[in-house]
Amino acid sequence: MSKPMITEVTPPKRELKRVGAHSHIRGLGLDENGKPKFAADGMVGQLEAREAAGIVVKMIREGKMAGRGVLLVGPPGTGKTAIAIGIAKELGEDTPFVAITGSEIYSTELKKTEFLMQAIRKAIGVRFREVREVYEGVVKELKIRFVKHPYNPWVKIPREAVITLETKDDERTLRVGEEVAVQLLQLRVRKGDIIEIDAETGMVRKLGKAGEKRYDIELERYLEKPSGPVRKRKEIVHTVTLHDLDMSAMAQRAAVASLLGLSVEREVPPEIRQQVDKEVMKLVKEGRAELVPGVLFIDDAHMLDIEAFSFLTRAMESELAPILILATNRGIAKIRGTDIESPHGIPLDLLDRLLIIKTRPYTEEEIREILKIRSEEEEIPLTDEALEELTKLGKEKSLRYAIQLMEPARIIAEREGRTKVTADDVKYAAKLFVDVRDSVQYVKQFEEMFLK
Ligand code: ATP
Repeated sequence: MSKPMITEVTPPKRELKRVGAHSHIRGLGLDENGKPKFAADGMVGQLEAREAAGIVVKMIREGKMAGRGVLLVGPPGTGKTAIAIGIAKELGEDTPFVAITGSEIYSTELKKTEFLMQAIRKAIGVRFREVREVYEGVVKELKIRFVKHPYNPWVKIPREAVITLETKDDERTLRVGEEVAVQLLQLRVRKGDIIEIDAETGMVRKLGKAGEKRYDIELERYLEKPSGPVRKRKEIVHTVTLHDLDMSAMAQRAAVASLLGLSVEREVPPEIRQQVDKEVMKLVKEGRAELVPGVLFIDDAHMLDIEAFSFLTRAMESELAPILILATNRGIAKIRGTDIESPHGIPLDLLDRLLIIKTRPYTEEEIREILKIRSEEEEIPLTDEALEELTKLGKEKSLRYAIQLMEPARIIAEREGRTKVTADDVKYAAKLFVDVRDSVQYVKQFEEMFLK
């Protein structure tokens, strides 16, 4: 019987190097007692908020955050998003992090609650553990047996192969079927190569190649180390989200529907989600998967309406819920969709479940340090004077504006044949690009002219 062919799914490669705005944040930068260091894990300053966030992480780990959430309150651009990402990073590298803004729920073609449901399910991971058994070693001998093609006697097709693999301590001869033999041919496997054959799927991978200088070194190293028996077990861990699973269930449904000539709905029907949840819980019970609750971050939470708030409040009570982190810069505001005023425009029953953390405007020293980190992250070298100029702009205008000016300043420097950005480049960039307060001021001036 032939074995199934397995293809590995790899995420699409990014052609362009894109550095995300928060790519430098690797955690909350706390010491072993949970106290924040001034600058660590890419985080700078904002010490009380980071310490509080660290306590939240501890509560999450101890299962004390169930049914509760966090509200980050502070002026725009004070690192609320950065802190939410820091929390997710502290929970583990593969912890899902989903960021939306309150107003987004009105701008999609989906129903508001469906949009929120999808965001929630994107923020819950399922970690699968698979144990693979592989034969791995250096090819000592390889014989492929061919048979004549039934209709074309000049064509020979591989039928089976006998392959001997060796490691320093072991040697094993395998007889493999047609599909594996084809792969051995396609990969041009020959004596001296290091290969791996999956014991179950028969998939072959070449790990090192004989004859080439680079690989000979690898080969020597491979044979030098006591590499154990040919057959070994490897554990593979991969994490997907509940939303990914919903989407693959939907894709299957769509395939069936198109065969039957039926149309497919855009929204995920509840029975699909129930089925996915049931299968996941079964795998969890069997110890083959574990749930990884992630973080759902909602910026400008005051933009949500009463319907969205009650949906979120209910969702937090569910067994499968992510950690909800809301952020706002509003004080007392009307709850959208009602005439009721409430702190931060959030209904009291939800507010009661939120731990509130304050963020405050950055000091000059903090701005300087964050700019320094971003210039390293974006690989834009700055002179000391350029850093000072940007710090000044960060303080006067906003940190976000100062960070945004770095790339234009780099291009200006490049035009002059320099790699390091100077203070003049920054000043020039600041003339060409204005910050949002200036741009608003500018159009306002014209509005007034026309209204006269
Ligand atoms: P908010 O969500 O409060 O508007 P933000 O996290 O989006 O703020 P921005 O002002 O957009 O913050 O931040 C600009 C850049 O500075 C981003 O790259 C962000 O990651 C980074 N940043 C903000 N606060 C900190 C901090 N305390 N430490 C390190 N980097 C930070």
